[in-house]
Amino acid sequence: SSSAGSKGITILGATGSIGLSTLDVIARHPDKYHVVAMTANTQTDLLFEQCQLFRPKYAVMVDHNCAEQLDAKLRSAGIETTVLSGSDALEEVATLTEVDYVMAAIVGAAGLLPSLAAANSGKRVMLANKEALVMSGKLFMDAVKNNGAELLPIDSEHNAIFQSMPASGQHGVKRILLTGSGGPFRTRDINTLKDVTPEQAVAHPNWSMGQKISVDSATMMNKGLEVIEACWLFDTPSAKVQVVIHPQSTIHSMVSYVDGSVIAQLGNPDMRTPIAYALAWPERIDAGVDELDLFDVARLDFEAPNFERFPCLKFAYEAHEIGGYASIALNAANEVAVASFLNKQINFTEIPQLIENVLEQAPTGTPLVLNEILVQDADSRERARLWLKNNKKQSTAL
Ligand code: NAD
Ligand code: MG
Repeated sequence: SSSAGSKGITILGATGSIGLSTLDVIARHPDKYHVVAMTANTQTDLLFEQCQLFRPKYAVMVDHNCAEQLDAKLRSAGIETTVLSGSDALEEVATLTEVDYVMAAIVGAAGLLPSLAAANSGKRVMLANKEALVMSGKLFMDAVKNNGAELLPIDSEHNAIFQSMPASGQHGVKRILLTGSGGPFRTRDINTLKDVTPEQAVAHPNWSMGQKISVDSATMMNKGLEVIEACWLFDTPSAKVQVVIHPQSTIHSMVSYVDGSVIAQLGNPDMRTPIAYALAWPERIDAGVDELDLFDVARLDFEAPNFERFPCLKFAYEAHEIGGYASIALNAANEVAVASFLNKQINFTEIPQLIENVLEQAPTGTPLVLNEILVQDADSRERARLWLKNNKKQSTAL
């Protein structure tokens, strides 16, 4: 479906942190890639600017009023992009025949259906939206396999693991060493964690990212979601995924082999590297990223993770062991908890309390059809809201 070798791309979540980095890489290679569709939730002005620059055939705004505003702006600017709206349109632009690659960069459960649709229609799926895989695990991996899709991980750790795996099969792999910086509160007095403000939580030491994943990095739920993500992507039990705290974020993850070898991928912390890798695979293209200066890095430190400081990481290992329903509950409760924390409705240490409560109510087993996944997600969100209602007297509606 590609014309003259140029690959047609849909960017789900074009206005986000990953979306912007993706457009930055694509703009460096106008001969190789063209944007067919871009989507956003509510950022009308930014999506309009992106349409001016990239002239996609379609632009999707989930919000109907925003879509009308975008359409009006595009018409008066004489730009021919067709505007679609509603969440069904996300799936529509993820499955167009003229689209070769789909960047799945919507945050949270909202990205599940379009990411899955891209896999079901046999696209190259460049997966940043880890929540989608945590929710649908086996169903997603089966969709990739059964429809000839290609799954390229964008999460820097998983991209590093992918690069450090043998080219043919996982022969001789002993363990995955999943690195994480430990976030902004790795060394903060544990008794003061309850006083953490949203502003402090979103200020990550090494990476600049969207708000939700920044809070997840501060609780280390992000690393927990990444453990589950690694289990599915690399068909590995969680006991073989070791989290390694590495504050410099220079090694992006490693694979340990039975012969004693450890293969790592290193680089500056810039998401354009894994994005460029996924776009060009199996080739390599310029990503606009500076070469790693090892003399500047000077040293690499490693620590074991502290489950007492970061209970969310422990919950994620437990959820994956319990099964798919528990992983959905973990993710849903976390999404509600993070939104409530950002709204200043709960404090930082109530995030794991809420999640633990919802996780305890999850059934065992794993859902294998989409509807069961969606029902469990809705049910867990409801239980999370109930926890908020019972534990927070002045709670406002979420
Ligand atoms: P972000 O908040 O910066 O952007 C999110 C994007 O999703 C925006 O374009 C927004 O319009 C869209 N969106 C939000 N809610 C939506 C909804 N309900 N329906 C449709 N679209 C919606 O987030 P981000 O940091 O770019 O992260 C995106 C995904 O990539 C997340 O799953 C995150 O965990 C993952 N990821 C991000 C990074 C990073 O460096 N930012 C690294 C690894 C993985
Ligand atoms: Mg990551």
